[in-house]
Amino acid sequence: PRLANQIAAGEVVERPASVIKELLENSLDAGAKRIDIDVEQAGVKLLRVRDDGSGIEQDDLPLALSRHATSKIRDLDDLERVATLGFRGEALASVSSVSRLTLTSCPEGGDQAWQVETEGRDMAPNIRPAAHPQGTTVEVRDLFFNTPARRKFLRTEKTEFAHLEEVVKRLALSRFDVGFNLRHNGRPVFSLPPARTEQEARRRVATVCGPAFVEQSRFIDHERSGLRLWGWVGLPTFSRSQADLQYFFVNGRMIRDKLVVHAVRQAYRDVLFNGRHPTFVLFMELDPAVVDVNVHPTKHEVRFRDGRMVHDFLFSTLYRALADQRPGDQAA
Ligand code: ADP
Ligand code: MG
Repeated sequence: PRLANQIAAGEVVERPASVIKELLENSLDAGAKRIDIDVEQAGVKLLRVRDDGSGIEQDDLPLALSRHATSKIRDLDDLERVATLGFRGEALASVSSVSRLTLTSCPEGGDQAWQVETEGRDMAPNIRPAAHPQGTTVEVRDLFFNTPARRKFLRTEKTEFAHLEEVVKRLALSRFDVGFNLRHNGRPVFSLPPARTEQEARRRVATVCGPAFVEQSRFIDHERSGLRLWGWVGLPTFSRSQADLQYFFVNGRMIRDKLVVHAVRQAYRDVLFNGRHPTFVLFMELDPAVVDVNVHPTKHEVRFRDGRMVHDFLFSTLYRALADQRPGDQAA
């Protein structure tokens, strides 16, 4: 079982960034409003995620680390969702099989926190009392200490941390209502308080994407026949080498989709932003019934029921937003 776990782990746990993604999604699932992330050596030495979510009951604590122990399947619909997402209830088990993991939690209304610890295998974790406010802390140390082959595939600390930071940024952009604090090697990387107003959201985007982007972008918010598009689109004055500043969320979930990319590119090209890479942080909201976001769990693709309508909506909304600010049109 140990080997099986580690093989499965290889698919979930590729690098520190994949661990942080699973831990943060668990915190968000638990309804956290504030998440503190501490990282040492890009997460290879230490990854600690602390949240103020609903916590885990004492009896469930060892279960949370065992395979297929998800608390998130409640009905048949859920089960179907699980089938498409794959790997449900396996993340913590997988991470614990390739690291030294400590899970500490105090459930809502609980008067005592409890802690379990594992070290790279399916040992029955010992449970002991601990001190912790409501919520959960997962501490992952010495990632891949027992799988040297995988450890060898890791890149430099700088590269691994860039991957990890990107994961945190995406989730921070998808949940303005949650506070995120990220520290690396004891130094704060960013601190994002919950953003409730447009002004506060703008501040978060400035922190995550850089102040130059929000200063040289246009805020749009447009709604038509059940489709809403809002967010920031970079203006031609903002180009630099920010080809990768392209965030697109559908109903709160980051996606990278051909149809969307095409519509955005076309709007950019038609407004004559010659050769410029589109830059944007955009949120599209639509009836969940007309979009399937679970096409593939990691490829970030979506399938719209009416792709053509979505394409037209994106293109025309962006075209109008950008045409207002065509290069040369900018009055002094
Ligand atoms: P999944 O998220 O697919 O259920 P995981 O292995 O990621 O599987 O987590 C296993 C279980 O541990 C979850 O179903 C949940 O009950 C519990 N859990 C993990 N992290 C947290 C957290 N931060 N807060 C509350 N419960 C958690
Ligand atoms: Mg999970």
